[in-house]
Amino acid sequence: MGDGFTCGVDVPEEGVSVDFDHLPCTDQSFENALERARNGDRLSVDDGVELITTGTDEPGIDPERKERVLEIADRRRAEEVGEEVTFVANVNNNVTTACNTGCLFCNFKDRSQKFRTEYQGDHGGFTKTPAESRAVVEDALDLGIYEVTSVSGLHPAFALDDEHREVLEAKDDPTMVNYRPPSEYDTSPGTYVDQISAMSVDDVHVHSMTPEEAYHAQRGADWDYEEVYGRLKDAGLDSVPGTAAEILVDEVRNVICPGKIDTEEWMEAMHAAASVGLDTTATIMYGHVENAKHRVLHLKRIRDLQECTGAITEFVPLSFVHEETPLFERGYLDGGASTDQDELMIAVSRLFLDNVEHIQSSWVKYGDSQGLKMLNCGADDFMGTILSEEITKRAGGDFGEFRSFQEYVDMVTAIGRTPVERSTDYRQRRRIDPDADVIGPTLGPRADGTPMVDRSSASGQSSGESAESTAAPAADRTSTD
Ligand code: SF4
Repeated sequence: MGDGFTCGVDVPEEGVSVDFDHLPCTDQSFENALERARNGDRLSVDDGVELITTGTDEPGIDPERKERVLEIADRRRAEEVGEEVTFVANVNNNVTTACNTGCLFCNFKDRSQKFRTEYQGDHGGFTKTPAESRAVVEDALDLGIYEVTSVSGLHPAFALDDEHREVLEAKDDPTMVNYRPPSEYDTSPGTYVDQISAMSVDDVHVHSMTPEEAYHAQRGADWDYEEVYGRLKDAGLDSVPGTAAEILVDEVRNVICPGKIDTEEWMEAMHAAASVGLDTTATIMYGHVENAKHRVLHLKRIRDLQECTGAITEFVPLSFVHEETPLFERGYLDGGASTDQDELMIAVSRLFLDNVEHIQSSWVKYGDSQGLKMLNCGADDFMGTILSEEITKRAGGDFGEFRSFQEYVDMVTAIGRTPVERSTDYRQRRRIDPDADVIGPTLGPRADGTPMVDRSSASGQSSGESAESTAAPAADRTSTD
């Protein structure tokens, strides 16, 4: 990842070099940008680039300047959202790893050909039927969760609903629109509407259908995204993850995910989701081939989107986990973001996104201690409970494990902040008494305040020793998708 001294872009010493039009050059100075941030002025892209690089007038990150940026961001966090640190009780139910989109940063997918009945080898992935997804949610509800997050590969047999399947099967050659009938696969994922409806148990909040999945759910049909999200909302969808965003600059997308929708299409889908009344989140996946200018241009797209929709509840910076990904193996990069770059990403997100209230620190990506540190760099949300974290684990992440409410409370109080259980949309909040005898979620339809699961049994689950490990896997919305 290049951060731009004299508009230079770092590349691996031996590897693939990428030439970009957007380079981190500005007419601004670091001191001016910092002053504007201190005053609460709306930041320009040049301001953002100066802050996130600690100045383009010098190479590398200046530690003293970095601390000044972090301090202002932390102060802004305190002014805007106070001392509370929030988290949710959620479960991750990814329906399938079958995908042939071929994103170079992704190690979650498995080539979808291998899922076909005619393939004799072991593909190592999974596809769940709607009934199996429902069982995941049922089991997790009993443990106290109230949110299910679902982000999946783009399985060729997926259709939005029965009407969409009829449209796809009427094509002369459905494979031209990336469709194959369920009969060609060992396990059918059903339709998106079937899956959403199956996961919509009791009052659980269903957080699913990224813009990329919404695109897949209307391929080959003459429907706009309002139609797609409207039907999904009727089936029980409550909010949309703003993943599949990666970097919202096409010259970066063309390198890391050329098979994905472009920036404008992503924006169109997010506008549509908001227009039918769905909340959304927003993300950035950084620390790969992009430079500082791309990161700030991405923030500008998110800020503009929020100006139009007001639907973004939180922004989630995701530091790229590079191990075992094609980008790393093919020499596009020799590592991920540095800790300094991670901290500045959080801080500048807080300062630049003056219309997004909550910034999340992902301990799955940063680890426990650095994840906590991010709460003093501008972040105020600390993700959710996790029983296992299949996507991040498959991309080489080290931190995907269950996190109990008790652990959350211990960590948050250790840095002098207030632990708060929140609903997905942040509209329900409950401060947790650290001295309570038992600490667990209370906002779920079946939650009674008891701990979800003890640590020892959670370890058994995440190592696959229990049937529960497949029945109730992860709880992170921060997928690689
Ligand atoms: S990021 Fe998503 S769309 Fe891309 S290959 Fe992975 S699962 Fe498929």
